Amino acid sequence: MFTPMGTCKYCGKSAGLFSHSHKECEEKYKQGITLLEGALRSYFMNAIQIGELRKVVANVSQNNFISNEDIGNSSGKCIDEWTNTIHWPFHSSLLALVKDFLNNIGVSYQTVNSSGALDRLCQKMIRGFMAEYFTNQKTLQRSIQISQQVINTLPISHQQEQDVYYEMLGQAGKNFLKDGYMTSAEQQKVEEYVSTLGLSLINLPASLQGTQIEELGQSYILGDIQAGRHPRYVINAPIILTKGEDALWCYNNVTMYQEKIKKEMVGSYGGFSFRIMKGVRYRTGGFKGHPVETSYMENMGQGSLYVTNKNIIFMGQTRSIKVPYSKIIGINPYSDGMEVQRDGNNVKRLVFQGFDCSFVLNIINLVTV
Ligand SMILES: [Zn+2]
Repeated sequence: MFTPMGTCKYCGKSAGLFSHSHKECEEKYKQGITLLEGALRSYFMNAIQIGELRKVVANVSQNNFISNEDIGNSSGKCIDEWTNTIHWPFHSSLLALVKDFLNNIGVSYQTVNSSGALDRLCQKMIRGFMAEYFTNQKTLQRSIQISQQVINTLPISHQQEQDVYYEMLGQAGKNFLKDGYMTSAEQQKVEEYVSTLGLSLINLPASLQGTQIEELGQSYILGDIQAGRHPRYVINAPIILTKGEDALWCYNNVTMYQEKIKKEMVGSYGGFSFRIMKGVRYRTGGFKGHPVETSYMENMGQGSLYVTNKNIIFMGQTRSIKVPYSKIIGINPYSDGMEVQRDGNNVKRLVFQGFDCSFVLNIINLVTV
């Protein structure tokens, strides 16, 4: 006959009707976690030796139903806490402490790292060494050498390693560009970093587009153009360039709008008869019985906006347009785009939306004077 008797998930014995644990076992387990995490924290604060930590681990495994998975989870949690408290300059004793821990904790590296705590610790240490390079406390060779030692103990993926290098590049960019320009010493530091670590300032992964790193790359380009040099970075663009034209930048996922004029008759009874619509701009000539010109911005679709030293070129899925800087008579910058006013009769205003236009404004300033 079927009896809905449950077994205790801790001790494995019968736990009674519809029950999966004994209250005493649950208590014992919680107590074990508290003991374990207390010992882990003490170890990382240098308050107890590894031998003592090992004793606690053995004890709670034996008496408090603590599994390897529990040891891994608690270790990850305590390592994260510890990671938050350490600050560079990092002493080599920190790495020795972790090494000792990993060799003695009795569960696999993957188990301790199941939440990525060891990856985060490794990345934090590398960030510290790279910061020491950017603040002139270490040579780049030395910073890389120590970082590799950390990675030997705390292996991270190539992607994670690149992420940290880019992150620190962005930090350096932020600091170096704080005053608006980079000194030649700062430029040299960035160049050595980028070339030694095989990074790029202009062909960035999508996650880094729009970050400070782009601004760094752009500042090099602007500096070169200002000095009358050929820009050191140009991009490969699927556009036909004229003689002496360089493609400098590309913004993806830009939406183009073009001004459209609609003529409507306004009713003779006076006042506005057309509906006021959100996002529509009106230019009214009269109110009674006149054709009224209303202008609005028509969405022309998404595409890539290329910035060259002569033109801005929008390549959309359905429409493409090239605007020479010499034809631009005005630009209204927006926080996420710009409105371009062109010279000539019957030319419509254009709006490009979905990017920061400051680089374009700077380029226009430099090439049109
Ligand atoms: Zn039990």
